[in-house]
Amino acid sequence: TERTLALIKPDAIDKKGAILEQVCRSGLYITQLKMCSLSRDLAQSFYAEHQHKPFFNALVDFMSSGPIVAMELMGTNAIAAWRDLIGPTDSAVARSQAATSIRARFGQDNTKNACHGSDSPASAASELEFFFPSKGAG
Ligand code: ATP
Repeated sequence: TERTLALIKPDAIDKKGAILEQVCRSGLYITQLKMCSLSRDLAQSFYAEHQHKPFFNALVDFMSSGPIVAMELMGTNAIAAWRDLIGPTDSAVARSQAATSIRARFGQDNTKNACHGSDSPASAASELEFFFPSKGAG
């Protein structure tokens, strides 16, 4: 079994009910969940790996523009399973591949694309720690 960090981004917050329903139907377990919002500073550190990309400022503005839902998902191959469920980064590409993916259903373009999913075990571990810090021993 594996864990991953999933986000419902600000553009899709009004669709959270339908998205949570799709998560539940997928067989992945929601083991932690919270609604919160990111300051610009927190959005910058969450997406630090993209800091030199041309879309970084737009991405930070967008991710700090309203509430989000953060979830820990658990299941067999959870990282790949969740990324398959959300579909390609660009919502238009997602729609051209399968009408059923979350980005096909709820995404707008290649920035406002409804959801995020960790892309590796290492990023899942650090992104889960970012949203759900472990309290440590003692
Ligand atoms: P995520 O990490 O959010 O699951 P991803 O792995 O599909 O998405 P990344 O390449 O890691 O995509 O980019 C992170 C986010 O930055 C994307 O989800 C999207 O919101 C935004 N983004 C990516 N590429 C572009 C682009 N070319 N133009 C504008 N925004 C982009």
